[in-house]
Amino acid sequence: MAAAESDGDPPSASRSEFLNFSAKDTASRWLAAADLQQEVYRHLAVYVPRILCLGPSGGSGSREEQREEQREELACQLLLLAPMEWLLLGEEPAAGLAQLQENNQPSPLCGHVFKVGEPTYSCRECAADPTCVLCMQCFLGSVHKEHRYRMTTSGGGGFCDCGDAEAWKKGPYCQKHTPTDNNIRSVTIHSCTACTHTFCVCVCVCACACARRERGDTYYCMLFNDEVHTYEQVIYTLQKAVNCSQKEAVSFATTVDRDGRKSVRYGDFQFCDQAKSVIVRNTSRQSKPLRVQVMHSSVVAHQCFALKALSWLGQIIQYSDGLRRILCQVGLQKGAEGENSSLVDRLMLNDSKMWKGARNIYHQLLMNSLLMDLKYKKIFAIQFAKSYERLQSDYVKDDHDREFSITDLSVQIFTVPSLARMLMVEENLMTTIIRTFVDHLRHRDLQGRFQFDRYTAQQAFKFGRVQSLIGDLKYVLISRPSEWSDQLRMKFLEGLDAFLELLKCMQGMDPVVRQVGQHIEMEPEWEAAFTLQMKLTHIISMIQEWCSADECVLIEAYRKCLGALSHCYSGLPDGEQPISLSLAGHSVETFRYQVSQDKVSIHLPVCRLLAGLHVLLSRTEVASRFPEQLPLGELSPPLLIELPLRCLVLCAQVHAGMWRRNGFSLINQIYYYHNVKCRVEMFDKDIIMLQAGASMMDPNHFLMIVLSRFELFHIFSSVSTDSTDSPLSMLHLIIMVVGERYVAGVGQVEPFDEVRREIIHQLSIRPMAHSELVKALPENGNKETGLERVIDTVASFKKPGVTGRGLYELRPEWNKYFNLYFHHYSRADQSKAEEAQRKLRRQNGEDTALPPPLLPPLCPLFASLVNLLQCDVLLAVEGAVLQWAVEPSGGGWTESMLQRVLHLVGMALLEEQQQLENSSGDDDVTFNYTCKITRPGEAPSTSGSVLALLESLQNAPHLEVHKDMITWILKMVTNIKTMRERTSSTSTITISPGQGPEETVRDKDKAERKRKAEMARLRREKIMAQMSEMQKHFINENKELFQQSLEELEASTSATAENSSVPTCVSQVCVGPRRVGRAERRQLVTCILCQEEQEVRGHGRAMVLAAFVQRSTVLSKNRRRNLPDPERHDPLFMHPDLSLGIHTASCGHIMHATCWQRYFEAVQLKEQRRQQRLRGHTSYDVENGEFLCPLCECLSNTVIPLLPHTPSPDHSVNHSCLEEWLETTNQQIALLHSANKKQSDGQSPPVVPEGFRVDFTPQNPFSSSISEMITTFSMSTYKVGLKVNPNEQDHRVPVLSWSTCAYTIQSIERFLMDEEKPLFGSLPCRQDDCLSSLTRFSSACWTAAPLKTVHTHFFRLFAALVPDSQVENTPCILDIDMFHLLHINVIKYLLCVCVSVLPEVSSGWQLWRCVKAGVLPFLRAATLFFHYLNSTAPPADLLVAGPGQWEALCSYLSLPSNLLQLHQSQHTQLEPLIHRWCRHPGVTQTLQGGGVIVRFPRESNRLIELPEDYSVLINQASSFTCPRSGGDKSRAPTLCLVCGSMLCSQSYCCQTEVDGEDVGACTAHTFTCGAGLGLFLRVRESQVLFVAGKTKGCFYPPPYLDDYGETDQGLKRGNPLHLCSERYRKIERLWRQHGIAEVIGHAQEANQTLVAIDWQHL
Ligand SMILES: [Zn+2]
Ligand SMILES: [Zn+2]
Ligand SMILES: [Zn+2]
Ligand SMILES: [Zn+2]
Ligand SMILES: [Zn+2]
Ligand SMILES: [Zn+2]
Ligand SMILES: [Zn+2]
Repeated sequence: MAAAESDGDPPSASRSEFLNFSAKDTASRWLAAADLQQEVYRHLAVYVPRILCLGPSGGSGSREEQREEQREELACQLLLLAPMEWLLLGEEPAAGLAQLQENNQPSPLCGHVFKVGEPTYSCRECAADPTCVLCMQCFLGSVHKEHRYRMTTSGGGGFCDCGDAEAWKKGPYCQKHTPTDNNIRSVTIHSCTACTHTFCVCVCVCACACARRERGDTYYCMLFNDEVHTYEQVIYTLQKAVNCSQKEAVSFATTVDRDGRKSVRYGDFQFCDQAKSVIVRNTSRQSKPLRVQVMHSSVVAHQCFALKALSWLGQIIQYSDGLRRILCQVGLQKGAEGENSSLVDRLMLNDSKMWKGARNIYHQLLMNSLLMDLKYKKIFAIQFAKSYERLQSDYVKDDHDREFSITDLSVQIFTVPSLARMLMVEENLMTTIIRTFVDHLRHRDLQGRFQFDRYTAQQAFKFGRVQSLIGDLKYVLISRPSEWSDQLRMKFLEGLDAFLELLKCMQGMDPVVRQVGQHIEMEPEWEAAFTLQMKLTHIISMIQEWCSADECVLIEAYRKCLGALSHCYSGLPDGEQPISLSLAGHSVETFRYQVSQDKVSIHLPVCRLLAGLHVLLSRTEVASRFPEQLPLGELSPPLLIELPLRCLVLCAQVHAGMWRRNGFSLINQIYYYHNVKCRVEMFDKDIIMLQAGASMMDPNHFLMIVLSRFELFHIFSSVSTDSTDSPLSMLHLIIMVVGERYVAGVGQVEPFDEVRREIIHQLSIRPMAHSELVKALPENGNKETGLERVIDTVASFKKPGVTGRGLYELRPEWNKYFNLYFHHYSRADQSKAEEAQRKLRRQNGEDTALPPPLLPPLCPLFASLVNLLQCDVLLAVEGAVLQWAVEPSGGGWTESMLQRVLHLVGMALLEEQQQLENSSGDDDVTFNYTCKITRPGEAPSTSGSVLALLESLQNAPHLEVHKDMITWILKMVTNIKTMRERTSSTSTITISPGQGPEETVRDKDKAERKRKAEMARLRREKIMAQMSEMQKHFINENKELFQQSLEELEASTSATAENSSVPTCVSQVCVGPRRVGRAERRQLVTCILCQEEQEVRGHGRAMVLAAFVQRSTVLSKNRRRNLPDPERHDPLFMHPDLSLGIHTASCGHIMHATCWQRYFEAVQLKEQRRQQRLRGHTSYDVENGEFLCPLCECLSNTVIPLLPHTPSPDHSVNHSCLEEWLETTNQQIALLHSANKKQSDGQSPPVVPEGFRVDFTPQNPFSSSISEMITTFSMSTYKVGLKVNPNEQDHRVPVLSWSTCAYTIQSIERFLMDEEKPLFGSLPCRQDDCLSSLTRFSSACWTAAPLKTVHTHFFRLFAALVPDSQVENTPCILDIDMFHLLHINVIKYLLCVCVSVLPEVSSGWQLWRCVKAGVLPFLRAATLFFHYLNSTAPPADLLVAGPGQWEALCSYLSLPSNLLQLHQSQHTQLEPLIHRWCRHPGVTQTLQGGGVIVRFPRESNRLIELPEDYSVLINQASSFTCPRSGGDKSRAPTLCLVCGSMLCSQSYCCQTEVDGEDVGACTAHTFTCGAGLGLFLRVRESQVLFVAGKTKGCFYPPPYLDDYGETDQGLKRGNPLHLCSERYRKIERLWRQHGIAEVIGHAQEANQTLVAIDWQHL
């Protein structure tokens, strides 16, 4: 039991050891030993368990534990690592390392390993593939920052590719990593052998750690991470199993998630095993149990040391590149056991057995060492490829995310083109990957095809993981070779064989049969098959790219593909008798097959690959140069087209509604078939296959087979027209087969033209944003669409405003390329585009015909396609449709059919015209459509020729819409006829053949355009003339009416002039004895609920405004101040830092109080019922009195009563001067005091001023309903402001009512000031209404409170007129004239300002200016208040912004404009007052520096400054660590826009308890920073977050835009983002206007899913 004894007392043992231990001696002892390795092991075996047996450990974080960790760290360094360093360097480690670094020749590779969330940059122009990235530092020093770059955030892992010449087409080095010339290779390392030994030892320890075992009696119960169980499950289980608190459990769970494992119990085996069985039992119900292991403590200790040693190695090799190379050598050295015995191999093969933390550390070491130079990377790559299959299988069985698997390194290896090529040739990598992939997909049907619908959940999970193999394949194929060796050809074709095997398993997957009678019972599985198809799309495209690069490979690949296809077709004809079809004098044999009755599949990858290769034959001209090598005749064309045709017919029938009973899965499949993600290798290739087939067949035969597959043959072969299926889709298909020529190889075009055409057609629907266009275009393997090269040639960019995004608009000259039957249009797109184009033409004064556009010529291999247009069968079809149009009696005929036929006719005519123009004489024009359509129709229709039919349709009244098109066609026919006549008659005259007719056509075109423009101008003029005529006429007719209204207008202006005659000579005064009242005018308002009108009167029915009261810190000058204690807080005096105010806003909608009450009761009832049905939140909280305004759905939580304005003052009453007033008031107060004391002590009664009675109770001027509403509103401000339950008896109720009025006025005043808007006249109506009702309310709210309370407040206010304590103007609490109070306040305020600015001011003049500036906001606020209270018209100077306000304000408030004068005139009364204020101890204290002086004018708060470049923020966030979990990276770093704090949001680690509930960091922060309301920027998502309270929130577009004027929420596109200050100001304005809560309310109403989000966890 010796080991046990020594284990028993580790701390003291190591302490004595510390003192006696010498690292140097130990190292030399090791060197002297016979077997170095054994000696080192012996040392470790003794010390490691002593140092690293942590013993019992709770969650991390406690101080004790931190100390423990530090101690352990220190011991580890001194006793274990220091000897190693000595051994390595042979001298003092610090000096040795410094010297090493000095002589270091760093690798030209940057190799910076990315942290989670760190910004990475890639260049869209120069990167070899999208995985090539730069770190921020390298990027800033590179040429690419001037290029079109992409910015993303790293998911962790991966490293900077700076310096890797293969990764960049241009500029591979940044400034820092540019290789220098002086190549001094002088690695002076003490002794290479020693190094080798040291590393060897270290790595061995790491690799063997798992296997070490020692006797002992302490164990750990180790809990491991998995990706199956949720946080909640783990926390719950832990609480049960190890009896810990919720908090500890959270901490355990966090560590398990982060490091991959955590010991949750320490003790003897029994003790640990018990916990293990509880955990396993509790988590095994639904899924496989959590992994728990009881481990011997010394094993755990050795493992811990192994990790430490690995990170130590990682640090050591940073000092010297030479060391790094030695480490690589040691790591890759083969061991005694031969194959796969090197240390790296052993680590790699045990990867899936290790936990997350361990994997991370050694992956990082691999990246820092092996992957840093090509030589070792190559050796490692070969080992990696050799073990590929095993590693992948391990990964598939494992459940950790791929980023924690060694297989994730494939991206570092396979994307290096030279390595990938080498591995392909030497290790047959392509075949290996594909085979491994196919091996993992086991379920097959009888024909050997994949069958995903039998997959269990477990298998589906595996399928998800297996897909990463396709990613590897993509890396290997991403760069196409420019040079081929025979070896490479062979291996590629071998790989292609394997790939064709894979495709064969997909060919015909998930077949469907049309359901008749009843609906399918269960939606069949279809997603897996489409996922596979989608993932392979790029691979298939890349394989075609590779084939196109080498002729031999292409021919061989074509052969192989054809072979694979024949194999697939082997069972096709099913041995049935073929049927024979005949029409228009032609006949053909085909299968007996109907899509609507037999099996059909959408998955035909083999056919489609062949179609792709076929096009390549044409594009590379291999077909014309080596025709003898091609097996073109091996498969008959009818067979080639068969399956794609079936698939297209299926789509047509689904669209026509024939497959309704097959449910949604089929509809989804058809959707994806056409979708941009799949169509390149699905729909597009099917069309190409039909084109290929048709070009190899007799066009009549082709059409007859098409007709037969569409099940339409009988319609056109017999006279009857009764049919249920319309031939619409069939006609469309023919248009596409002939007309889709924008694929290089089918038509003579470049890829450039193809992209341009896509864009033209997208923009023909409507102007679009950049991202919309990107989404509509297929991406290649490099995630590029080619959009950038084209967009500026066809479209003009329109910048966005403050909302919305930048849009591209098609330039008008490209409209002529519009094709209504563009193959990528959905039906909705098509009709939208048609409408838009017709509208455009009407606007331009053109006819509305939408003729087919001119098409590029076909490539020779497809040249015969045009014959489809003039073949007999098509003519018969056209004839039949036109015939139906002439006599529209048949049920099957539609106008759309006619439209398509007209389009086909148009295409044929254009073709003929083009051929005529390009030909030298008549003889080589084989296309002769005009001639054919003049021939009378053949049987069965006995009618006239196509042309004759068209002529008769021209004037048909029921075809008005198509008239323009028919006219266009007929004109074309005439044109062509004249061209033909001219060329045939004057063929001798044609001097420059080809040019002549072209010229005339162009001239004619020009003349035509001119004529049209002229006509349009005339028409416009005519319309204008008509309009002005009409106007005159109207005035004449209604002359009297006009006269009348003019008179009325004059009368009213004179009336107002009369009213304002007084104030125009005497300027407007809003307060005091000379106050000018507005003429009494009845105020009529309409209730939005019952629509009745009502006058606002003191005794009438109460009218209310919907309003929203909220706490606000917008004006706060002190965010650190704690929230007041709701029970004891005395809100009477507002601190001048305004740290917390109550803001009231209203949407301005007026209701009867009774109507509102009824409405609110209904809302409550509805909410109760809703809660019974389904749980969850609404966007408003009914329990807290919240509701939505019934008219505008604006969030509200109370109502403000509407009150009449105060009556005009009685000018007859003699107003006392300040002195008298002070005296009287003092007397009154004294009297009231004594009255309150009820003369208990026998003092002499104070003097009773004249006309004053103690028991005077002013009469309540309001009706009961209004009083009730006054109470309602007071209660709301009380409840919200103090966060307490309503209590009508609380004496603070009226105070809060005044307070909200004052705060609202102040915030509005500030806002107007900052926006540089005039004080009056610029507020929106709703704020105007809100303010006027608020001020009137504040002057009336005393009626709702007991008189005594009001009196008390008044005393205290009056008595405490001392500086520094009160700046709020909370006036008019009694019917006391405010004139005096105002004066005092002004003086007092002046003094405050003086105090605050004094220290900085030197000259008197400056003092005056500062004082003026300081007082101004106060005067402005006062002006607002009195204006709304007394409705005195504001002076004109205040209706405009700018200077001259001061005088206007003073006179409006009846103050002298020179405030010194004010002081002088009232000198006698004020002097003592001022002295009293100054004597207050608080003042002296503050002046001596004992307190914070709030400066006046208070500067308005702004949101924090944001950097211009978004990546600065990302970088800042990536270095932000969670403040709670010891230096860990935060997952969702979030920036508070109000105060600039960075928070660790949406994470367990930073949850805090607020009011008994755990909330996330953001929500918690809102309570300290914004009184429950917050604005944040989620840095990694590039999203603004608004939060209000615990349950409400919404996302808002960030103020960062890319160059295309778009935001990138979620950072998905990666375009560089820059700050848009207008948008940021808009957010700021929203905040300052207290509009955030309203925005959240509206957002949640509009989008119900927002309601369900747990905002409090953010
Ligand atoms: Zn770098
Ligand atoms: Zn660099
Ligand atoms: Zn570049
Ligand atoms: Zn009403
Ligand atoms: Zn409203
Ligand atoms: Zn945190
Ligand atoms: Zn904040």
